[in-house]
Amino acid sequence: MKAQDYPAAVRELITQLSHLPGTGRRSAERLALWILKNGQTDASALAQAITAAVESTAMCPRCGFFAAKGELCTACSDPARDASQICVVEQATDVLPIERSGFFHGLYHCLGGKLSPLDGVMPENLAVDKLIERVRSHPDCEVILAVGSDVEGEATALFLAEQLRNLPCRISRLAQGMPAGAGLAQTDAITVMRALQGRTQMEKSASPEPSDN
Ligand SMILES: [Zn+2]
Repeated sequence: MKAQDYPAAVRELITQLSHLPGTGRRSAERLALWILKNGQTDASALAQAITAAVESTAMCPRCGFFAAKGELCTACSDPARDASQICVVEQATDVLPIERSGFFHGLYHCLGGKLSPLDGVMPENLAVDKLIERVRSHPDCEVILAVGSDVEGEATALFLAEQLRNLPCRISRLAQGMPAGAGLAQTDAITVMRALQGRTQMEKSASPEPSDN
């Protein structure tokens, strides 16, 4: 005797949904049943939206935020943005919390992570060369380091300051006030605005040794 179960196609849908972040088997089952209950029209619209988003979206070749494939992102392609300010964030998902604060009108640069040798994230895994290239083509710009205030974030900020040391730019760091260890994605708009307003300039001439690169 076979045990009663969902048809194979539904079991496969539950399996695929359970791969979504934060979705366990039970949640995946609830989502699958909701999709089945809502019928062909809603299911097709959902499937099409997923396919269209994946096929038409890429990372902005300049800053690393999400963009339509083959194009610059909204900020990079907007001549009204202040190109003399580059806000450096760890992840593309850190951009919108800053944007929603309504206080920043410059451009962004997404590193794609933070330095973390224990997790195998080394400088060459981050978009550092691209940042240096952008700073070189925008003399006198301000680079605002909006990386996290945890140990890896601090190490990343110090590393970037060192890399930018001999370039014609000012470097600033988001003010304390950002919750320690918290990512921008979990920070409310007012805290982000205050952290931007109170940003502090970073020392560029800390190291007396001649550069060895
Ligand atoms: Zn961009």
